[in-house]
Amino acid sequence: MSITTQEIPPEVLALLALPESDTLTPDQVRGAVCAWCPRRLTGATAVDLGELTGDDGRWWPRACGPCVGRRAHQALYAHAPLCEPCVDDVGRCATGRALPRLVRRYRR
Ligand SMILES: [Zn+2]
Ligand SMILES: [Zn+2]
Repeated sequence: MSITTQEIPPEVLALLALPESDTLTPDQVRGAVCAWCPRRLTGATAVDLGELTGDDGRWWPRACGPCVGRRAHQALYAHAPLCEPCVDDVGRCATGRALPRLVRRYRR
């Protein structure tokens, strides 16, 4: 099962710090290889990161589960202490709810 873009809102995707498309290999740009590591993806292992617009036009990055889990974990640690709703009550922050979901789903 690959997950759909709806499960990673754009503001959450931004926190995952996807590389610029012009720094990636053609295989990474077309989603055949994880955007963060050299792992080759299949429909079963790929996490769809949605449609992005870069300098060379639109592209459709994908990533492997472990990379998404690791990135989401880092992003959560960076986000939570600086986000007022998260400090008060994480239930009020869509980002604060989405990141732990990704971590739980993909972290090994
Ligand atoms: Zn990866
Ligand atoms: Zn937050």
